[in-house]
Amino acid sequence: MIGHHMQANQAQRHRRVQCAFQTTPARQGHFLSVIFPGSQKTMSSLSGKVQTVLGAVDPGQLGRTMTHEHLTMSFECCYFPPAPGDKAVAEAPIEMRNLFWLKQNPYGSHENLLLCQETDAVKEELLFYRRSGGGTIVENTTAGISRDVTTLKRLAKETGVHIVAGAGFYVDVTHSDETRKMTVEKLTDIIVSEVLHGTDGTSVKCGVIGEIGTSWPITDSEKKVLKATAHAQAQLGCPVIIHPGRNPVAPAAVVQILQEAGGDISKTVMSHLDRTIFDEGELLEFAKMGSYLEYDLFGMELLNYPYKLEVDMPSDSQRVKTLAFLVAEGYEDRIVIAHDIHTKNRLTKYGGHGYSHILNNIVPKMLTRGINQNQVDKILIENPKHWLTFK
Ligand SMILES: [Zn+2]
Repeated sequence: MIGHHMQANQAQRHRRVQCAFQTTPARQGHFLSVIFPGSQKTMSSLSGKVQTVLGAVDPGQLGRTMTHEHLTMSFECCYFPPAPGDKAVAEAPIEMRNLFWLKQNPYGSHENLLLCQETDAVKEELLFYRRSGGGTIVENTTAGISRDVTTLKRLAKETGVHIVAGAGFYVDVTHSDETRKMTVEKLTDIIVSEVLHGTDGTSVKCGVIGEIGTSWPITDSEKKVLKATAHAQAQLGCPVIIHPGRNPVAPAAVVQILQEAGGDISKTVMSHLDRTIFDEGELLEFAKMGSYLEYDLFGMELLNYPYKLEVDMPSDSQRVKTLAFLVAEGYEDRIVIAHDIHTKNRLTKYGGHGYSHILNNIVPKMLTRGINQNQVDKILIENPKHWLTFK
């Protein structure tokens, strides 16, 4: 699946090397925490706080929050070869006349998968996000897709946007041999250490576990990571975010594994529901399990979803309709939203919608479709705040 035959010039090749950030095993150490007698629970000093890449903050400081974004990552793991006739456009530099093709075939161009090359453009976007009323971004890039917390820290400093980084591992196809061989205990230690001590050999600490990647069916290695996630969450009282496989029953299957391993579903976000559950009855059944319900592909409108052609990717209007449905059913305290930007073409630099699309275009639409301002504030401010606050 991983393509390495890109006809790159020297500079591009150099940047790709920079993107291929390898995760170093987390350092083992003593956790800065207290084990309460008679309880297996380890409470950290993070209780009541949110942990950003610049340190712990009061939850009231977060403001409007996108709960699932990427500011720097590489998505080479999920390259999807273009149709034979599209080879020329797929390998051409990104320019105006290719943008519609790219929008419909985002995973068929190697160039498009290297969001990690666009830090300057992302910085501009974050400054615009602040001007648009945004406060916080959950940057849930995990091991396997080139997490780069040093860049996140710099972006947070230079833009004033609170950034929360993600601990743990992405989908099975990105797990290293070393990861696959690890026990649940070892995986748990790594995740806990990424939250308490720092990530990828730095002192930058994660404030959420995830996005934890799962495929469908869920693989053995992914099951171990899910159990480790639940164990780490039980120790830390921290938020968790999950990437489910592309099957309507996948989210419930993940929740069951987490639950059985002692995870806290009320502090867990289930991502990507827009491309996973389509039947309203099935959605309500899943909602009863108690996780946060995330619609996080706002701005992504394409005819053929290459990873699963049976899926009709909803339009933004359809997403808003689904949010209104969930609000009417009483789930306004459980909804969170985002864009999940993970390719270049979705940045405004490349004619895309950018990180401020929800604030500038989707919120006004929500207000005309039966969702009131108080409910919008819950979805953008209150729900993310409660989710991100350590117990
Ligand atoms: Zn994502």
